[in-house]
Amino acid sequence: MIRVDVEEERKEILKRYRRLLRVAKPLLKSGDAKLIKKAFNVSSEAHKEMRRKSGEPYIYHPLEVALICVEEIGLGTTSIIAALLHDVVEDTDMELEDIERDFGPKVAQIIDGLTKISGVFEYGSSQQAENFRKMLITLSDDVRVILIKLADRLNNMRTLDSMPRHKQLKIASETKYLYAPLAHRLGLYSFKSELEDLHLKFTDKETYEFIVNKINETKVSRNKFIKTFIAPIQTDLEAQNFRFNIKGRPKSVFSIYSKMKKQNIPFEEVYDLFAVRIIIDTALENEKADCWQVYSIVTDFYRPNPDRLRDWISTPRANGYESLHTTVMSQTGQWVEVQIRTQRMDDIAERGYAAHWKYKEKENSPEKAAGGLDEWITQVRTLLENNDGSAIEFMDDFRGNLFQDEVFVFTPKGDLKVLPFGATALDFAFEIHSEVGANCIGAKVNQKLVPIGHKLKNGDQVEILTSKKQKPSEDWLKSVVTSRARAKIKDALKEEKKQYILDGKEIVQRKLKQMKMEFSSVVVEQLRAFFETKTTTEFYYKVGRGIIDPTSIKGFKEFKQQKKLKKNTMIQVTDESSFTKEIKNLKGPEHDQLLIGEDMDVVDYILAKCCNPIPGDDVFGFVTVNEGIKIHRTSCPNALELLSNHGNRVIKARWTSQQEIAFLAGLKIVGTDRVGLISDLTKVISNELKVNMRSITVDSDSGIFEGTIKLYVHSTNHLDKLIDNLGKVQGVLKVSRFD
Ligand code: MN
Repeated sequence: MIRVDVEEERKEILKRYRRLLRVAKPLLKSGDAKLIKKAFNVSSEAHKEMRRKSGEPYIYHPLEVALICVEEIGLGTTSIIAALLHDVVEDTDMELEDIERDFGPKVAQIIDGLTKISGVFEYGSSQQAENFRKMLITLSDDVRVILIKLADRLNNMRTLDSMPRHKQLKIASETKYLYAPLAHRLGLYSFKSELEDLHLKFTDKETYEFIVNKINETKVSRNKFIKTFIAPIQTDLEAQNFRFNIKGRPKSVFSIYSKMKKQNIPFEEVYDLFAVRIIIDTALENEKADCWQVYSIVTDFYRPNPDRLRDWISTPRANGYESLHTTVMSQTGQWVEVQIRTQRMDDIAERGYAAHWKYKEKENSPEKAAGGLDEWITQVRTLLENNDGSAIEFMDDFRGNLFQDEVFVFTPKGDLKVLPFGATALDFAFEIHSEVGANCIGAKVNQKLVPIGHKLKNGDQVEILTSKKQKPSEDWLKSVVTSRARAKIKDALKEEKKQYILDGKEIVQRKLKQMKMEFSSVVVEQLRAFFETKTTTEFYYKVGRGIIDPTSIKGFKEFKQQKKLKKNTMIQVTDESSFTKEIKNLKGPEHDQLLIGEDMDVVDYILAKCCNPIPGDDVFGFVTVNEGIKIHRTSCPNALELLSNHGNRVIKARWTSQQEIAFLAGLKIVGTDRVGLISDLTKVISNELKVNMRSITVDSDSGIFEGTIKLYVHSTNHLDKLIDNLGKVQGVLKVSRFD
């Protein structure tokens, strides 16, 4: 139980109330203060038994919301009253009629709107979209509903610390999802930045604090830099009798974070950590000319980057934003963004719609200034009125290009997940839980079955289907974009590989024992060379995986005995190159090899994954930056690009013969379905040609059979033979190879 000093608390409440009155004072007409006092009394009486999660008296919240409305948006008496009473109807015994009786229909209408759109996000995705639509509809009634709602949300975000973790995440996500773009659209830039920063603070505290600390650490040197940078401009502006104010402000934590993430760079490399803003005080009719005059002064001292000139004075943005932006090169070789605008433009940029209104009411504003926003509201209204039921589409429309690099999707329970653009069902599965990801076999997106690589769209509701038998495979890496999913898949593959290696080692030990041979490092090294693997680990892996048939280890024994017969003594070959040579001698010239370069040397290479070349294929080598020589099929989809654009990096390569090592190839089989077809196909594959089948997937629809088989073969000859034989199976119409 928290001990509360009631007297102290009463004093604090009054203090906060007086602060509100003081800030609002310049906006008030006679009689307004009395109404505000009445609203304050009604609200504090209604909420008197209630407390915030933090333990503070509830009335702090409506007081703060009202203060934000005045101080940060510039709203007037009606809004202050509505803000003070905004939670009364929903949370206390008071009814809307009471409000209407005491404060009139306008206040009642706003509070009705606020009550209706609260709890907007309590339901599933479609419901959420629908509620969002409703929320925007209220825009056509009175935009103050949205503005007060935003103030309410801002205060809730500022006080989110005392909420339980799951609520923090939920509220923070919604804020990023809807309120921040809404604030942006209404031209409330500082609102938007603060909401985004707070979102980051509660979803990724570590990164948030890291950036905040960095900003603070660099403060001294930054201020020094800005001082030097603006000095000559200042002198010139003074000489030309400008009334002005220059600010050098760091960008928001979130925008720095976005830059680091998008360009994948450390904090130190974000070049536009701050912007210099020149705000001039000038008569309305001189605004444009004066701003360009300032631009001319700035560029007298610093060279501008022509690609980064933004003239939002001649053509304001749709939300009413006006400013002249340029990026110039400083003496120290650093790019600096300079924003040039008038006091009026700055007010509008910082405080949005209400500032527009203020200037409009003064009746000295040019039409264009207010035009943008009015236009937008009209547009929204038309959209809403013509809405043919697809609320999600509308929401997407609204969100427009603001958050192009992210998709917002929902769990079956309606929880929001934010993923990078291009994220798939599999990314989503790993986002839920690494186990869900590892066992993912597919998903239902909006009730429709989709494969794991399905790309998600805004508003999708995703249910992941899992199976205990499912395991991550190499291919999965192609189906994900999030680093989290990639890391988890790689971990799983590593784990699996380890297991294969252990299995392989066990098999080898057993085989050697059966053959009455010693299990020693020398023998293992010889085995490695015999099977032409680069390392013993790879050898074990291939055995464990079944790529090297354990029974073929017998061949090694025969090979050794042969050698004994020939030379009568066993030569001690321990180093790998001499042993490899031995094998080449014994296996003869027809033995498989890839010859590379003009001299047709045997060099290290890797086979390109894009086309999986196998011995017998027409191939060429390509010198890569990091991975040495890569071998591609000449028919590889990438071949054209590589050969034409990087001809100097292409080298000749050809196979001398065939190889015992198996290569992965894919076959597509189309035919008419019948009972026993699959078993006949697998029989051909496994019995007749002793090929190793890796996977088979079959789709059968109204009598048509379509299957893909992945298998290990030894060469194209081998594969051609297999294709031939498969084609002879009754019912098979076509067999073709794919990559
Ligand atoms: Mn509230």
